[in-house]
Amino acid sequence: MPAPIQPLPLSSWRLPSTGRPFLVAGPCGVETPEQVHSIAAELSRLPVHLIRGGIWKPRTRPDSFQGIGMEGLVWLKEAGIATGLPVAVEVATPRHVEEALSAGIDVLWIGARTTVNPFLVQELANALVGSDVPVMVKNPINPDPELWIGALERLDRSGIRKLAAIHRGFSSFDKSRFRNIPNWQIPIELKRRFPDLPMLCDPSHICGNREMIPEVAQTAMDLNFDGLMIEVHNNPGEARSDKEQQLTPSQYGELLGNLIIRRPSVDDVIFLNLLDELRDRIDRMDENILSLMADRMRIAREIGRYKKENNMAIYQVERWNEILRTRQQSGVNKELNREFIVRLYELIHEESIRHQTEVMKNHEITSANSPES
Ligand code: PEP
Ligand code: MN
Repeated sequence: MPAPIQPLPLSSWRLPSTGRPFLVAGPCGVETPEQVHSIAAELSRLPVHLIRGGIWKPRTRPDSFQGIGMEGLVWLKEAGIATGLPVAVEVATPRHVEEALSAGIDVLWIGARTTVNPFLVQELANALVGSDVPVMVKNPINPDPELWIGALERLDRSGIRKLAAIHRGFSSFDKSRFRNIPNWQIPIELKRRFPDLPMLCDPSHICGNREMIPEVAQTAMDLNFDGLMIEVHNNPGEARSDKEQQLTPSQYGELLGNLIIRRPSVDDVIFLNLLDELRDRIDRMDENILSLMADRMRIAREIGRYKKENNMAIYQVERWNEILRTRQQSGVNKELNREFIVRLYELIHEESIRHQTEVMKNHEITSANSPES
């Protein structure tokens, strides 16, 4: 739920690029000097602002490639110098910070598995005191915006003055076409609270496959994200990590060529009038939806009173199944998304039950304290 608070000041990185999107590209993991030089050289002929390369890889299973380690820092930095591009690595421990900074790495990022851990983030923040390196913070693997903000705040409190956020999707046990579900409302909420904080999208880790990357990158641009981080490998099929989701440099070039960059606002008067009119209509519809919801909850309470008089339980599974089935059917007939209908009715049903529980507990909601008064 959007917090009705004033945005806190967070030191935001002024991205070193003119216009959107700020582009970060490079391999999931640095593997050999030849690999990283070849990728950087090919990328330098395409639009790119920062080369990424993982040196220490946080892998789920112990037998997977854990990253090439410290010697890779030198290869990455040399590839950056040879192509005139700054380079970025992921850091997960204070030792990584120390080694990356002494190797002259230009930008650091904190991975999703680290952002979840406030102890570790605090240790990284402490290790970064006194440095002016830009730090990009990926969202935590679980969909918790406060944890993401908390990590940014810890870095901010340590005096890091160049912060950015990277949206890489959220882990879920549920089956999905995404490797990590985007939950776009979470980065949007972050952007609402911290309008100056650069928000990048990492379609590679959201998709988990090459094919969907253009679609997700385009959605990020349509949602006015500031940049993209994309995994690019010279030979993705042989990559030692994330081989399904890495693009070749030419696929990356093609993706950028097809990307439509829309403006965040326009000054065409006719268009703006039309937009105002459509937004007025939406405002009136929302008023109607809220009045209907208030009526619906009033009736739910009335049902609650009858159930109480007749000593009947609040929740009847057959009734809930019937609501779910009929509303899905009706919604789909109206070309609404089935998943949206289910989520909407879960919320409405939960709120109805809350109202009926109040009635049962004898705390009849009066007009003085009812939510809709
Ligand atoms: C990565 O960028 O290679 C990585 C490990 O990402 P994440 O932290 O998003 O899983
Ligand atoms: Mn990766």
